[in-house]
Amino acid sequence: MSASAVARRMARVRTGVAELGLDGLLVSGLANIRYLSGFSGSSALLLIGAERAVFLTDGRYEQQATEELAAGVEFELVVSRDGVLAALTGRANREFAGATLGFEAPQVTYGQWRKLGEGACAVTWKAVAGMVEGLRMVKDEDEIAALEKAAAIAAQALRDTLPLVESGVTEVEIAAELEYRMLGLGAQYPAFETIVASGARTALPHATTSRRQVREGDLLLCDFGARWQGYHSDLTRTFVVGEPSQLQSQRYESVLAAQRAAVGALEEGVPCSEVDTAARQAFKLHQVQAHFAHSVGHGVGLEVHEGPRLSGKSEESLQSNMVVTVEPGLYFPGWGGIRIEDDFVVGSGRARPLVALEKDRLLPL
Ligand code: ZN
Ligand code: ZN
Repeated sequence: MSASAVARRMARVRTGVAELGLDGLLVSGLANIRYLSGFSGSSALLLIGAERAVFLTDGRYEQQATEELAAGVEFELVVSRDGVLAALTGRANREFAGATLGFEAPQVTYGQWRKLGEGACAVTWKAVAGMVEGLRMVKDEDEIAALEKAAAIAAQALRDTLPLVESGVTEVEIAAELEYRMLGLGAQYPAFETIVASGARTALPHATTSRRQVREGDLLLCDFGARWQGYHSDLTRTFVVGEPSQLQSQRYESVLAAQRAAVGALEEGVPCSEVDTAARQAFKLHQVQAHFAHSVGHGVGLEVHEGPRLSGKSEESLQSNMVVTVEPGLYFPGWGGIRIEDDFVVGSGRARPLVALEKDRLLPL
C-alpha cells in the first residue's frame, strides 16, 4: 500500500477520533488494520494516538510486518513475545494514562474486553462501532482496480469451467474446477467457500456444495468469487443442464428483471433501502415476491460482506465509489432457486459492473 494512502486513511481516522472527543482508538478488526496499515497477517493490534501510532504483532509476523508496513512510516512496530494484548495494555498504561481511548466494540470478545479493562486500568475505554468500516465503504482507485481484477478472475474461471459441466458431474467437482481455475488465473484464494448447488438444493440460499451429481433438467447455481490482493469478488450465476423448462425460463426472467430494477436504482445519493425496494417491486409485478428471502446486496471489499447493506432496513445512502453486490433470488422449496449476482461501482450515473459476465438468458449447458 502506498505511503500516501496510509497517511490519508490515518488522517481520516484521527478526524473521526477527535470528533468523538477521544484521545485515540484501538483498532483490532483485522480488515480494518489491513486497510489502515497494509498488514495482511492474522495477529495484530493498532493503537492510534493523536500524533503517533503503535503497531503490535507477535513473533510469527515480525518479518512480514516489517515488509508490509515499510510504506507506512507512521507506525512504531512492537513485536510481542507474550501476547499482543498484554503488550498493548502495558503500553497503554505507560503512554496513555488518564486518556480516553475508543475500542472497536463489535470486534472484541468478552474475554478480550475484560483483559483490556483489567490490564489497561489507567485508561478509560469507550465503545466505538463502525468508524473504520465507515471509511472502508467508499473505495479509492487502487481498491477498485483490485476489485475489478478479483471479479475478472472469477468471471474467466467460470467461463473456463462451464464447458466441463455435463450430466453426471458432481457439485464438488464443479466447485473444485472453478477454484482451481481461479488460482491458476492469479487468485490468492477463493473469496469464500464456493457454493455449487444443483436440483432442488438450489432453493437453499446458502447451500453447501455436496457430492450430488447434476442431472439433465437441473438448475445449477454457482456462487463464487476470487480474492486478489486482499479484495474479494462475489458473483452468482444460475444455469440449466440441458434445455430450460418454461417455468425455469419464466422465473429466470423474473430474477433478471429484479436485478435490472435494482441496478437502475443504484446511484449516488439514493438510500440503500430503495435498491432493495426496487427489486422487491419487480418481483411483485411477477407475483413472486414471497420467494425473495434475503436482502438484495451488500458492500464488498477487504471482506466479502461489508457495508453498506442494501436491505429494507438500511439507513445509509449510496455514495460514489461504493462497491456493492446486487443479488436478487427466488427460492421455491422442493423445486429449486435462481439467483443472479454481480458487483457494481456506484457513481453519479448508471452503476458500472466490475466485470461483464454473460447472463442474458438461462444458459443451457
Ligand atoms: Zn455470492
Ligand atoms: Zn453476495
